[in-house]
Amino acid sequence: MKFDLDSVFIEHGCADSPLATRVLRALPRDVPVTHVGDNETREAARPASGVIDPFGAGKRRLLIARRKTPFLMPCPAGSSKFACCGYLVLTLASNCPMDCSYCFLQEYLADNPAFQVYANFTDSFDELDRLCANAHGRTFRVGTGELADSLAFDSITAISRDLIDFFASRENLTLELKTKTDEIENLLDLDPRGRVLVSWTLSPDAVYRSSEHLTASPAARIAAARAVLDAGYRVAFHFDPLIAYPDAERDYLRLIDELLEVVPPKQISFISVGGLRMTPRLRGAARSRFPADPMLCGEDVLAADGRFRAFMPLRLSLYRTLADRFKKAGAEIPTYLCMEPASVHEHVFGAAPAKAATIGERLARG
Ligand code: SF4
Repeated sequence: MKFDLDSVFIEHGCADSPLATRVLRALPRDVPVTHVGDNETREAARPASGVIDPFGAGKRRLLIARRKTPFLMPCPAGSSKFACCGYLVLTLASNCPMDCSYCFLQEYLADNPAFQVYANFTDSFDELDRLCANAHGRTFRVGTGELADSLAFDSITAISRDLIDFFASRENLTLELKTKTDEIENLLDLDPRGRVLVSWTLSPDAVYRSSEHLTASPAARIAAARAVLDAGYRVAFHFDPLIAYPDAERDYLRLIDELLEVVPPKQISFISVGGLRMTPRLRGAARSRFPADPMLCGEDVLAADGRFRAFMPLRLSLYRTLADRFKKAGAEIPTYLCMEPASVHEHVFGAAPAKAATIGERLARG
């Protein structure tokens, strides 16, 4: 196991689930396990009052519980204000053992007591089959990396193996596993049959060192991408959040060169790019948890969507620099901007984005 756990909590109703059995088998012996009543899980798993950073403490507490609400939903970043990529989110876990200073979970899951993983996750397969049955002929990109990192803790949950088995047999679904880890061991001996895409968020070393605590290094993420590519998976990369710090342009170009040396452009399914954006509440939480992080202290403005962002000219210049570099690489890599309006797409790419469903289908098909 690559991440430390202080304790594990298991709802009574999940004690005999295959997931709980797997986790208990793989868990180091010194991690205490507590069984809790089905209606008391949140409070039972909560760190003791008086803990200085309860959100951070919650990242080292694993809760196995039953999900009582649907697993599948549209990406929460989608909105009529932004050009959307048609991504669907499958929530099989929530929270993350890594600790990026800019992470939106600090706001979105501010009151979450623990890293939750859902013992009934295979129920989500019925939801996906219903989705396909009701949208005959359409293709969907479905990801598990929105409210959790897709592969963190996979060494003890092995959920990726069930997912890959399921998606490999579904013609019109593509699974996206999104991660900042190099936990790929469970993937390498399976055949995804072209239906599974593994994506990494990439940042320059300066951002990794100052802001992406406990993640795999950028070089390790790129090496992991090469390994899954060789094992038959598709790969994609997210330059998100793109942070406008003094040497950003030089560092991002260097990072892209390092990536393209290992993964040729024609083998990249898509690139997404999105500038650092923070609601006032998230910015407050992030700066108070990471007061020394220089990446959180750039000049920004409150944009029309209520989020602090780098000044538009700075954002556009960075977006264009990345887009030009990928264009020069000589292969048409589908690229989209995350959480930016259509007008920004037009400035960067010279054309308005296609409709969400069209982009989504194109990214899903590869
Ligand atoms: S890896 Fe992703 S989910 Fe985890 S803390 Fe970093 S930004 Fe958040």
